[in-house]
Amino acid sequence: MSMSVVTLLYLIASVCFIQALKGLSNPKTARIGNTFGMVGMAIAILTTIALIVKQASALGSDLSLGLGLLFAALVVGGAIGAYVAAKVEMTKMPELVAAMHSLIGLAAVCIAYAVVSEPSAFGLAPLGEPIPVGNRVELFIGTFVGAITFSGSVIAFGKLSGKYQFRLFKGAPVVYRGQHMINLLLALAMLGFGIIFMLTQAWLPFVIMTAIAFALGVLIIIPIGGADMPVVVSMLNSYSGWAAAGIGFSLNNPMLIIAGSLVGSSGAILSYIMCRAMNRSFFNVLLGGFGNEGGAAATGGAQEQRPVKSGSADDAAFMLGNAETVVIVPGYGLAVARAQHALKELTDKLIEKGIDVKYAIHPVAGRMPGHMNVLLAEAEVDYELVHEMEDINGEFQQTDVVLVLGANDVVNPAAKTDPKSVIAGMPILEAYRAKTIIVNKRSMAAGYAGLDNELFYMDKTMMVFGDAKKVIEDMVKAVE
Ligand code: NDP
Repeated sequence: MSMSVVTLLYLIASVCFIQALKGLSNPKTARIGNTFGMVGMAIAILTTIALIVKQASALGSDLSLGLGLLFAALVVGGAIGAYVAAKVEMTKMPELVAAMHSLIGLAAVCIAYAVVSEPSAFGLAPLGEPIPVGNRVELFIGTFVGAITFSGSVIAFGKLSGKYQFRLFKGAPVVYRGQHMINLLLALAMLGFGIIFMLTQAWLPFVIMTAIAFALGVLIIIPIGGADMPVVVSMLNSYSGWAAAGIGFSLNNPMLIIAGSLVGSSGAILSYIMCRAMNRSFFNVLLGGFGNEGGAAATGGAQEQRPVKSGSADDAAFMLGNAETVVIVPGYGLAVARAQHALKELTDKLIEKGIDVKYAIHPVAGRMPGHMNVLLAEAEVDYELVHEMEDINGEFQQTDVVLVLGANDVVNPAAKTDPKSVIAGMPILEAYRAKTIIVNKRSMAAGYAGLDNELFYMDKTMMVFGDAKKVIEDMVKAVE
């Protein structure tokens, strides 16, 4: 295979990756986007294997053992990936993504070590000659970003899964005096050893620099609360892309540079969008102190008990059945209850009755970007009924009934009315403007931000307490 064919195939794979990102930006095209991603990755892997074979035969090396190991790794890795992806629950997705990123970071470090120990095998320098300084800079960047991504992602995984007793894996932020100063000094030390490596290509500073980077990954992530982890995972996703791109420069591999840059930039944009939708600055997330085990403290129970109007699923079904327009606001609780299929059934019944039903999606509803879109897509909800916040906010005033299902912060009017609130300024779905509001949740407990919600106490609001799945199934029966 000639180099121009390799370049062409890499170009085709890159276009597939760009199409994948484009497709994944909309639920209607997400499936095809995913297919583009898989095709692009298959082309990239096969082309790289062909390239290795070509280069090895040019050097007269025996590749039988290497290729055997490579295919064994592909089969084992592919089988594990397919099994895990088929098994994972939607709410466990962020921790799976964190685990995957840790592997990308580790791979970047391993490749950098292979390159430094045997630069001639990677075509970086003739046998016995030093690595050019420019490549040493790339190796330094790829290694330290990869090491931080690895250890940071392992901590993020532990915090998100919440299953492990290890202290660093607890959801609560681990904070101590002088934390940021220690991190800063370590970062400077890492840079110092990196500079020595770049000037001398000596092993010791390279190893010390890597060890500090591994430690920094842990120290940067431990002060961040479990509930902020999705933003951190998106940030680590970005880091893993930059690590891959850095190594791509060292290996002179355009595919790795392009794919790494796409992951790096899309992860950075996603982190920014999430922070903006939560009205938090990126530094505020990174410097920690917000969010604890399973979200912020639920202040609802500890507060003065204020009266709310509550009703049954039958009452709610009666109100829905008599409405002309209904807007459904799904939230984290709907995902926890796995009530999306029951909700689809309810929607179908209401539409059969001639009621105009729409879904309103907040960009950070749930616990991961696009959580509600994925949930509704799983239940095969008609995409035409699904509306983004900016498009639907103007319609609440004319809506007869808003049905809030397991959502809390994303409909909390305090974001608009209380400048002291931790969510002040966060854009919300303006459900409070509707003529009537039905809220389903299990109790008066707070959501992720740990806040009470005035919406629940409004005269026009009826609370329906209970698990979302059970309540919606009861509503379906009552509507019938
Ligand atoms: P919230 O976390 O604000 O509220 C969810 C509500 O669901 C809770 O009040 C809970 O009340 C209820 N609930 C839980 N389980 C059930 C159940 N089985 N049946 C019915 N209700 C249930 O969720 P929102 O979606 O409104 O807001 C998301 C929050 O998460 C925002 O603050 C956002 O900033 C944050 N966030 C989002 C990320 C993202 O990428 N989407 C990432 C990180 C944070 P009760 O216990 O009484 O049932």
